Amino acid sequence: MILTLKRGISKKEIKRIENKIRSFGFRPHISRGAKDITVGVIGENAILLKEFFESDPAVASIAQISKPYKLSSRQIHPKDTRLTVGNSKIGGGHFAIIAGPCSVESRKQIISIAKEVKKCGAKFLRGGAFKPRTSPYSFQGLGEEGLKYLAQAKKITGLPVVTEVMQISQIEVVSKYADVLQIGARNMQNFNLLKEIGKAKKPVLLKRGMSATITELLMAAEYIMSSGNSKIILCERGIRTFSDQTRFTLDISAIPVLKKETHLPVIVDPSHATGKRDLVPPMALAALAAGADGIMVEVHIKPDTALSDSAQTINIPTFKKLVKDISCIAKVLEKKV
Ligand code: PEP
Ligand code: MN
Repeated sequence: MILTLKRGISKKEIKRIENKIRSFGFRPHISRGAKDITVGVIGENAILLKEFFESDPAVASIAQISKPYKLSSRQIHPKDTRLTVGNSKIGGGHFAIIAGPCSVESRKQIISIAKEVKKCGAKFLRGGAFKPRTSPYSFQGLGEEGLKYLAQAKKITGLPVVTEVMQISQIEVVSKYADVLQIGARNMQNFNLLKEIGKAKKPVLLKRGMSATITELLMAAEYIMSSGNSKIILCERGIRTFSDQTRFTLDISAIPVLKKETHLPVIVDPSHATGKRDLVPPMALAALAAGADGIMVEVHIKPDTALSDSAQTINIPTFKKLVKDISCIAKVLEKKV
């Protein structure tokens, strides 16, 4: 349920409304728009409280939140959420470029890639230290050692670090080194992990499960937000379809759908979506044109030698050209890169 408050009411009155909502065991969510202040009443069957607010002198009107997601919905928070991580911004007109290898392989590898992608215009560094691999025989990541190398790369370049957390027991150690905690596609509906990550103080990059609907993605975000962390970046990374020419199918239409449904920043990962490096630049540009707030791409100095996801990893010259093309299109779309 959303309460639109009467214009010009005092801070004291707003506090009273918040406390009244809490007294029923619900949670208030204040949103200040250009004209109106609205208060979302969060909790199951909140609409049952309608009768207690209908004649409240501070309330102008009452509407029902029609979607199952509440805190992530645009209905409750009409303005775009913009996140600032270090000197990098994402959302609310800022298009963020996140780049780096699939996996951290060595100190030298991650530092040299970080320096190069920074030079090209990347705003965040990615790299996996805990890797969710399909085969138990594949490289599983360097673990905490990899996190230390990421932190060193950040120290040298200033790029905030995005890296994956695969299980609850890793949240603490990853939070120690990283700026953004990534939840991978395979964990999108690991509800216990989502609840715990909701207690973390760092922003979360939440990837869409490969067989998840958009509603399920938003409900996953809702788990994190309802546990106290509203700094979330959603990531479309391709879904399973019968198309056999790409690793997954990039759901481009998910971008405008998500932008309509939620105020959270929405980015696209064209690397995992396609699985093919020649498809990464066109899909990255398509994502920007469709309204995404950023991309996350896998980049390596020597893609053919990458220990994971080599086939979908682009080299530095390709990345450099991609950033140049993004800058041109972003200008037309009045987005800051
Ligand atoms: C990744 O970004 O490193 C990754 C494993 O992606 P996904 O979870 O989308 O497969
Ligand atoms: Mn990868």
